[in-house]
Amino acid sequence: MNLLGFTRQNFAVVFEQMNVPKWRAGQVWDWIYRKSATSFDEMSNVPAEMRAELQGNHSIAYPAVDRVLTSSDGTEKFLLQLSDGESVEMVLIPERDRCTVCVSSQIGCGVKCSFCHTGTQPFVRNLEAHEIVGQVMVARQRLSDPGALNSKRLITNIVMMGMGEPLHNYENVSSAIKIMMDSDGLAFSRRRITLSTSGVVPFIVRCGTELCVNLAVSLHAPNDEIRNKIMPINNMYNVRELINACRQYPNTNEARRITFEYVMLRDVNDSEQQAIELAALIRDIPAKVNLIPWNPWPGAPFKTSSNSQIDRFAQALARTGVTVITRTPRGQDILAACGQLKSSSLSK
Ligand code: SF4
Repeated sequence: MNLLGFTRQNFAVVFEQMNVPKWRAGQVWDWIYRKSATSFDEMSNVPAEMRAELQGNHSIAYPAVDRVLTSSDGTEKFLLQLSDGESVEMVLIPERDRCTVCVSSQIGCGVKCSFCHTGTQPFVRNLEAHEIVGQVMVARQRLSDPGALNSKRLITNIVMMGMGEPLHNYENVSSAIKIMMDSDGLAFSRRRITLSTSGVVPFIVRCGTELCVNLAVSLHAPNDEIRNKIMPINNMYNVRELINACRQYPNTNEARRITFEYVMLRDVNDSEQQAIELAALIRDIPAKVNLIPWNPWPGAPFKTSSNSQIDRFAQALARTGVTVITRTPRGQDILAACGQLKSSSLSK
């Protein structure tokens, strides 16, 4: 059993079953998350007998780094090998005042948005909680990040925006996020964690209630007609249901807004009229809109909107009072930008 995926509550149960005092579980937890120990031998304040028992039945295994590609803008894409031989991608995005880890939740993705490279890869399986937390641990190891031990932590933000639909793997994602947020674990504030969904309506409010992390919604269209064409999930949960779920997302206010992601596809969803329609759709939700110039990938049937069209779209939104940000693509040259991730794993 890989201890990395146990929430603190379940971690305590493992130690209870070993008949050791609860505070010993706290010591091991501390070694794993605060001191980044990857072997029980390092745990100098844990009795040798207990370390041997742990060694016999448990591990603290991070995904293995198979390859790292570095973009000209400093973005790094990691191909990670999992214990069953499957692989998944994780991206590290350094910026001037912060560093974001973009974490995957599944191998492949069953949602199949037509503009997304990941969607062309067959869905293989959900990631286990330890494989999700393990991606953050690999990023920390890469940067020699001291984590929450002192104020010099290097990774500042975690976004669940890599491969897969996190709300299709809710239980594992939820456990992983609880470990990320645990004040004695990775100690990330819920305000520093963003979960992005394509619109799995039944889980949206639950996610907000139980995890209360920032919500990003891949909306990408202002109406069902366009969204049905580019995001098949819209045939299951339509725009009206999705926007209703967003209205009910707990703790949303002007200081804590929902992000609507909107990929700019030339002649598909990028007219000024569509911007006005989008503004009307979200007008009663504390929200901001991120415009994402579409990032190309081999064989894709789309073109990205021109810069001038993106500007016109942004201005049309801004005129209605919507906060709008046009994102600068990161890691495009190594296929690490939004919607470009794809590992070589195949469905069996
Ligand atoms: S955009 Fe997200 S949900 Fe859609 S296919 Fe890509 S990874 Fe899956």
